[in-house]
Amino acid sequence: MRALVTGGAGFIGSHLCERLLKDGHEVICLDNFFTGNKRNIAHLLDDRRFELIRHDVTEPILLEVDRIFNLACPASPIHYQYNPVKTTKTSVMGAINMLGLAKRVRARILQASTSEVYGDPQVHPQPESYWGNVNTIGIRSCYDEGKRVAETLMMDYHRQNKVDIRIIRIFNTYGPNMAENDGRVVSNFILQALKGEDITVYGKGEQTRSFCFVSDLIEGILKMMECPGFIGPVNLGNPNETTIVDFAKKIIALTGSSSRIIYNPLPADDPKQRQPDITLAKEKLGWEPKVQVDEGLKKTIEYFSSVLSAG
Ligand code: NAD
Ligand code: UDP
Repeated sequence: MRALVTGGAGFIGSHLCERLLKDGHEVICLDNFFTGNKRNIAHLLDDRRFELIRHDVTEPILLEVDRIFNLACPASPIHYQYNPVKTTKTSVMGAINMLGLAKRVRARILQASTSEVYGDPQVHPQPESYWGNVNTIGIRSCYDEGKRVAETLMMDYHRQNKVDIRIIRIFNTYGPNMAENDGRVVSNFILQALKGEDITVYGKGEQTRSFCFVSDLIEGILKMMECPGFIGPVNLGNPNETTIVDFAKKIIALTGSSSRIIYNPLPADDPKQRQPDITLAKEKLGWEPKVQVDEGLKKTIEYFSSVLSAG
C-alpha cells in the first residue's frame, strides 16, 4: 500500500513513517517543516520506497495514495500559539484538502485528533461519549477548536460523500524525536534535569496528565487505520495518570539530577486533569499500552542525552 503521512517529519509522524516502511509499505512524507525536523527522517531518505515532499496542507495537492494519515499540525502550546490563525487554518483547511484528496482517489483517511477536544474536562476519566468543556475564545482555542472542526469535517465527508474515515483522539504522547524546543512538559523537564537547570513546574503542579510512549501510540494508530467497520472517534493514550509535580520528581530520580523544582505561573486554560478512558480501544482494537512509564522515560532521556552531546 502507498501511505501519505502529513506532518511526517514531526515527532509522531517520523515514527509512523519508519514503522510503515518496516511493514513493507510505500510512504510519502509531506511536511512544511514548521515544527518538523529533517533529522527525524534523514535515516529514511535512502529507502527507495520513501518520498519526501515539502508542502503546506493548507494548499491542495493531488497524490495517488491508498491511506492518508493526517498528522500535520503543531502540537505544543508554544508552537500552536505562535501563529494561532495559521494553526486553525492548518487543522481546518488541512482537513478539507486531505478529505478532498481522499474522496478523489478513494483513499482511507485517519485524522489525528486530540484529548484537547475535551478541553478542561468535567468528566473524569474522559470517554469518547463526553462532548467536552472547551473555551472558544482562549489562547488554546486555535488548537482545540481547529481539531474539533476537523472531526466535524471528517464526519460530514463520511456522511455526505462516503469517504472512508478514522478518527483517533491522542492523549499526551512522548518519546525520542520530540523537538527539544517545543516547550512540552516531557522535553522541558528532561532537558532541564540533564542540564542541571531548575525544573519549571507551572502552577502548583497539582494538574494531572497521563503519558503514553510513542511506540504504543503507533501500534494503536495502525490498528485503527486497518480496523474494519469502526471509524471512531477512539481515545489512544495511557491511563497511567500523574500530577505534574510528581512527574518532575520522577524525572529528577531517573536522571539522577541535582536540579531543584521551581514554581512558575500556570498558563491560561491549562486543563486541570486528563486521563483517557480506553475501554473502546480495548474492545474494538484489542489495543492497550504496553510500555511502562519508567522504561519509556529512560529511552527518552537517552535520546535527549545524545541530542545534547551532539551539540
Ligand atoms: P509535531 O509538531 O512534532 O509534528 C507536527 C508536524 O506537522 C511537524 O512536522 C510540522 O512541521 C508539520 N506541520 C505543521 N503545520 C503544517 C502544515 N500547515 N503543513 C504541513 N505540515 C505541517 O507534533 P506531534 O506531537 O508529532 O503531533 C502530531 C499530530 O498528533 C498533530 O496533529 C497533533 O495535534 C496530534 N497530537 C499529538 C499529541 C502528542 O502528545 N504528541 C497529542 C494529541 C494530538
Ligand atoms: N508544564 C509544566 N512545566 C513545563 C511545561 C509544561 O508544568 O515546563 C505543565 C503544563 O502547564 C501542563 C502539563 O505540564 O499542565 C502538560 O503540558 P504540555 O504542554 O506538555 O501538554 P498539554 O498541556 O497540551 O497537555
